Amino acid sequence: MTTYPETGLLAESEPGILLIRNARPYGEGDGQHVLIKDGIIVELDAGEVSADRIIDADGHVLLPGLVDMHVHLREPGREDTETIATGSAAAAVGGFTAVFTMANTSPTVDQPIIAEGIWAKGQRINLCDVHPVGSITKGLAGKELTEFGMMARSDARVRMFSDDGKCVDNPLVMRRALEYAKGLDVLLAQHCEEPRLTEGAVAHEGAVAARLGLRGWPRAAEESIVIRDALLARDYGSRTHICHASTEGTVQLVEWAKEHNIPLTAEVTPHHLLLTDKRLETYDGVNRVNPPLREDRDVQALRQALLDGIIDCVATDHAPHGSEEKCCEFDHARPGMLGLETSLAVIADNFVRTGLANWRWVAKVMSEKPAEITRLPGHGRPLAVGEPANLCLVDPDCSWTSYGKDTQSKAVNNPYEGMDFHTKVSATILRGRVTYQEGTISAPRA
Ligand SMILES: [Zn+2]
Repeated sequence: MTTYPETGLLAESEPGILLIRNARPYGEGDGQHVLIKDGIIVELDAGEVSADRIIDADGHVLLPGLVDMHVHLREPGREDTETIATGSAAAAVGGFTAVFTMANTSPTVDQPIIAEGIWAKGQRINLCDVHPVGSITKGLAGKELTEFGMMARSDARVRMFSDDGKCVDNPLVMRRALEYAKGLDVLLAQHCEEPRLTEGAVAHEGAVAARLGLRGWPRAAEESIVIRDALLARDYGSRTHICHASTEGTVQLVEWAKEHNIPLTAEVTPHHLLLTDKRLETYDGVNRVNPPLREDRDVQALRQALLDGIIDCVATDHAPHGSEEKCCEFDHARPGMLGLETSLAVIADNFVRTGLANWRWVAKVMSEKPAEITRLPGHGRPLAVGEPANLCLVDPDCSWTSYGKDTQSKAVNNPYEGMDFHTKVSATILRGRVTYQEGTISAPRA
């Protein structure tokens, strides 16, 4: 098992024996009894044994715990909209065992002590591993680089840096960041938005925005940064990741970069795989997001790219906001949507239940790939003896309706309000600890 690069100090594994009865690994074959001892998978096809805790999986699908490279847990600074505790609970409900929380908090995560505080708190709560993302520039101002090395070596072991929410638009600053990152082998994640093309923009630039009188955000604002950063990654060789790809053109550019062996990876959000700018007709602020919801041809291109592996993985960009920030004029609504508690259902309903993909593919795009891109040990691992028990169980055939009021998140900006789904996470396990099961979240250890 890979141990490089290590994480910060982890909360202890759950001691004792956990038996998961009648689970189907990757949704294949008959139900098996999975035996977990002291947080490690010790048998995949066990008999009836006595255990400290038993989960009756009832034939549900067993997957590696999901990994989200892109969330906003709002702490420190906006604890009125989300905290590490409520965000961790939402993650557990969604099947996640590890998340990366972005640096655009207040204060910005631009120093080791802030990253260490987030990491330590996440481990104390112990519902999900919460990895702080460090900012690329101080205060997200786009000018002066932060101390990547100090954050990478800190107790938080920061392994990804991003100014997400803002683009590192100055190409010279991005070049220097890539050169610095290369020496440390950390990942840079870019929010691709050329700000001079999106001033005042609130919606995708197209027929819908024109009709509704909304200022448009053109595809080129994203794509021009994608190709610029691909070329910089080619020349300086540092691993670069594209946050929330949203256009057909971005897919083409990422494909080109991969054909040329450029170390570029990309993620797509559930909402960009499902929703289009037709949603804006109601002027409901919940549909404002950055990058904006685009057109059907973008959705189709993103779906195919995820199936083909051109887009590497799914990331939620879970972005909680208070109702006063969303229930207002569309132009003034803050961009962002909730995602942690619905992402598995959006992906499984639209790709597995439709026959486009299988559960192994879900494990790949929602767990294995994000763990690989972030070089995260212990997560996104095969379901095998000797591996840490970071797992989730999924009911592949149920019926439920998504309501913001039912979420663990403090915010209610749920883009799937009232939507019916047919798959649901039934349990989540972090190092042998059952963090969530059938509507119940384990008490935080704090
Ligand atoms: Zn972003």
